[in-house]
Amino acid sequence: MNETYLLTGRHALVCGASSGIGRATALALASHGAQITALARSGDKLGELIPELEAAGASGARALKCDLSLHDSVQDALDRLVLDVGPVHILINNAGGPRGGPILNASAEEFTHAFHLHVLTAHLLTRSLLPGMTESGFGRIVNIISTSVKEPIAGLGVSNTIRAAMAAWAKTVSKELPSGVTINNVLPGFTATDRLSSLKEQIAERRSIRPDQVEEEWLSTVPEGRLARPEEVAALAAFLCTPAAAYVRGQSIAADGGRLNSI
Ligand code: NAD
Repeated sequence: MNETYLLTGRHALVCGASSGIGRATALALASHGAQITALARSGDKLGELIPELEAAGASGARALKCDLSLHDSVQDALDRLVLDVGPVHILINNAGGPRGGPILNASAEEFTHAFHLHVLTAHLLTRSLLPGMTESGFGRIVNIISTSVKEPIAGLGVSNTIRAAMAAWAKTVSKELPSGVTINNVLPGFTATDRLSSLKEQIAERRSIRPDQVEEEWLSTVPEGRLARPEEVAALAAFLCTPAAAYVRGQSIAADGGRLNSI
C-alpha cells in the first residue's frame, strides 16, 4: 500500500465496533495497519472481532467493553487506555441511531438521550483524546452520522435533529483543532446493517406493509439501485483517517449510492 494510505504506528479507537458500520470501519483501519481499540457494550461480539482485526493487518487489537451513555465510566476507560497503550490518534465517533417515528410523537427524553449519546459523548471523547493527538502532531476524528444532515428524512425526526447538532458541533470543532488534527463527518446512505433491518421492521409495522416493500421504496431513490455494504461506508471513513486526507477538514461526505439530491 502507498505510504500516504498507511496507518502503521497509529492507534485508533473505534466506537460501536461490535456491528455494522463501526465493525467494518475497525476492519478497514486494521487493513491500513493501525492498532485498534474496539469499543462496544458486548464483550462477546468484541471477542470475536479481535482475531479478525489481527488477520486484517492490525498492528495490535484490543476490546474495550464500555457503554457510551455512561460518561463517568467512559472517562475512566479512556484514562486507563491512554495510560496502558498510549495516545489515541484516530477516533471514530459512532453509536446506534435513535428510534424512528413521527417527530411530534417524540418525548423530550428521546431528544435528550440521543443528544447525550451522540453529541455529548463525542465532545467528551474529543476533549479527552485531543492532548495526545496534539502532542503527536497527528489526529483524525471521524463522526458516523447521516445524510439527514443535508436532507432531513421523513419519520426520523429525533435523528434528523441530533445529526444536525452533531454536524454543527463538528464544523465548529474543525475551526479550533490544531494543525495536523482533522474532524470530518461520514454520511451513510441505506446500509445493510442491524440498524437498518430494525428500522425497516418498525416502518413496515407502523404502515402495515411488508418490510421488503419498505426496502423497495428506499431503493427507488438510490441510483445505484442497492443497499450499501458496511465496508463501502467504512472505506470512506478509513480514507479520512489516512495521511492522504490531511487537507480534508470540517466536511460532511456521503456514501449513499447517489441518493442525495443536493449539490
Ligand atoms: P448498528 O446498530 O449496526 O451498530 C451500532 C453500534 O453501536 C453497535 O456496535 C452497538 O452495540 C453500538 N452501540 C449502540 N449504543 C451504544 C452505547 N450506548 N455504547 C456503546 N456502544 C453502543 O448501526 P449501524 O447501521 O452500523 O449505524 C451506525 C451509525 O450510522 C448510527 O448512528 C446510524 O444511525 C447511522 N446510520 C446508519 C445508516 C444505515 O443505513 N445503516 C444510515 C444512516 C446513518
